[in-house]
Amino acid sequence: MTDQLQRFLFDDFEIRGEIAQAHTTFEECVSNHDYPVEVANTIGELLIATSLLTATLKFKGKIAVQIQGDGPLSMAVINANQNLEVRGTARYQGDTTGLSFAELIGKGNLMITITPDNGERYQGIVALEKDTLAACLEDYFVQSEQLATKISLFADSTSTPVQAAGLLIQTLPAHSESHEEDFAHVCALASTIKAEEIYTLQNDDLLFRLYHQEKVRLFEAQPISFVCGCSKERCLSSLASLDEEEIKDILEEQDSIDMRCEYCATTYSFKEQDLQILLTPANQKH
Ligand SMILES: [Zn+2]
Repeated sequence: MTDQLQRFLFDDFEIRGEIAQAHTTFEECVSNHDYPVEVANTIGELLIATSLLTATLKFKGKIAVQIQGDGPLSMAVINANQNLEVRGTARYQGDTTGLSFAELIGKGNLMITITPDNGERYQGIVALEKDTLAACLEDYFVQSEQLATKISLFADSTSTPVQAAGLLIQTLPAHSESHEEDFAHVCALASTIKAEEIYTLQNDDLLFRLYHQEKVRLFEAQPISFVCGCSKERCLSSLASLDEEEIKDILEEQDSIDMRCEYCATTYSFKEQDLQILLTPANQKH
């Protein structure tokens, strides 16, 4: 089983699609975190949603898809780039047992920030007003891209191994008037998909099961992988923003300053000798 995103196109309809599976990447996002099931599953869905979005919005650079709300899950974010290298984290408080997506988030927003390697940063925001993340994303596409879109997201953090997958069906930007009926037809079939099928079937088998009466062209798959990108050097440079006295105070109380990456849970430990570079006043460096 591989983590991948695969696009497809209908020969006879003005409709495109994508299928994503990211079981191992989901595992790497949630392992070592002790997230409650409801929070972990939301991260899984957000991971798939981000992968589907990344393949849809053509850009070279970085994307962050973030949920913010006043409910128990105050923040969840997935960062990705155009190569589908992703990482994610979440902040929550209180008991989340049995809460639905809408109850977890409360009143909140979905923010999509694209930072291209070359060009201006772009941010799109949509209020989270539907019962599921998938329905909220469909709103985003209608509002920001004026493209009818159907999204199905599946995540199960209780299975061994954990599983996450999703399907996107989208109308092509230029389409004829008879198109609406075709789109409704393709979406009706897409909604019959079962979690077990999308988790385990090969994509050509999955598409045959859904659309055996249609001509569907499947393109080459693109891998999805977990890449954090944190390092001891990056932690050290973030410590540099602390006041020198503050660093000295902490070191007086404990042997080292420990920093835990909130994405991959790696802990970086800095002893006094590692921090000398930050402790030497600039005017004595010569
Ligand atoms: Zn990390």
